[in-house]
Amino acid sequence: MTSRFRGGEIYGIPIPTVFDENNSIRCAGCGEPIVGTPFRITILDIVSPEAPPSWAVGAELNPGPHQFHSEPGHFRAWARKRGFLFCRLSDVREIMRPVPIPGDAPRWGLCDGLHRQSHEFVPA
Ligand SMILES: [Zn+2]
Ligand SMILES: [Zn+2]
Repeated sequence: MTSRFRGGEIYGIPIPTVFDENNSIRCAGCGEPIVGTPFRITILDIVSPEAPPSWAVGAELNPGPHQFHSEPGHFRAWARKRGFLFCRLSDVREIMRPVPIPGDAPRWGLCDGLHRQSHEFVPA
């Protein structure tokens, strides 16, 4: 797991960083106020070519954007609280993709989807 936390571009496309000047923005990870520019992360809609497993129907994923301090640990703390797994091959980026984890309980893994290998999900 690297700690890269790059902002500003996704797939070479600049993401406009227009932020509200709002002093009450709080980090979704630790709950503390964010001084300066929050890091916003959006959870993509699930796009699956196959039929999703039955438990995934109606699974509620708040797409956000969620706002965090700029350290990746704050996003991971948020993900951990919600029981998400995190792909070891992924960085924390502005856009994260949810991946259904097969198993007894409904679980989601989060990945930036920028690697070609199989996901390697670990607790966030
Ligand atoms: Zn925080
Ligand atoms: Zn992955």
